[in-house]
Amino acid sequence: MEQKTKKKRRRRRRHKTIDLDSLAEQYKEYVIEALGISYLELPQRLLDEISKEVVNAVVTSTSYKPSVDTVVKRINRYRRQLYKIVSAKILESIDKLTIDQLEFVIGTGEEVLIPYIQELYKLAKKYNRDDLVSMLQYIWEKYGRPTPIQCPKCGFRTIMADYGCMVCGYVVGENYIREQLNFGERFIEFIKTASVAQLRDIVDTGFILVSDIDMKSPRERIVPSVRIYYPIYLRSSELSLIMEEISSRKIPV
Ligand SMILES: [Zn+2]
Repeated sequence: MEQKTKKKRRRRRRHKTIDLDSLAEQYKEYVIEALGISYLELPQRLLDEISKEVVNAVVTSTSYKPSVDTVVKRINRYRRQLYKIVSAKILESIDKLTIDQLEFVIGTGEEVLIPYIQELYKLAKKYNRDDLVSMLQYIWEKYGRPTPIQCPKCGFRTIMADYGCMVCGYVVGENYIREQLNFGERFIEFIKTASVAQLRDIVDTGFILVSDIDMKSPRERIVPSVRIYYPIYLRSSELSLIMEEISSRKIPV
């Protein structure tokens, strides 16, 4: 599959090689039949494009013309990879997916589905297919970027730092965030180990940044692409605890 771009370049430079596009046109029916996707009732334009991309992917040499049998055999051998190509093509017109097409892409698309996860979730709900929602959740866990907090509405681990769900748009409350991160207990532990400077910053700003594994003061650097930190505003009792800790550190032992 990686040879594709290289192959295209070579094809343009040399003239005595076979033309993959015309080969795709010639073998089109066999390619679609071997893929077993006729039942998806895709528009002809899409089938043409799929045939082109699949032929490009399975024909490894442009110096001789492969037989139909060879092409079909390779389609069978690389089916899983090729279905991702087919899924990507189908997903380009995601707003018009039929239930058959939706089932096909969710069943075969793997990582190709990630950029479309919101729309696919909406469609699966629209068709009332919780089994497809579960499959999407599995795909998100495997290929996506699951966050530490699960959305109580759609079930995906997609609650972002602004408390909003990336998939269904639901917004959770701070109490839910506190609960999910087990904030109460961890906060007591954090106070004991934090530096006085950290504690002061937290008191000054009134909030703390909490990830699934650690906590930071608002002035510390965080890299959102690496780890999500949820801001939690402290209650007055919690601020008092910090004040107490700061003054206890001042007492000479
Ligand atoms: Zn959600």
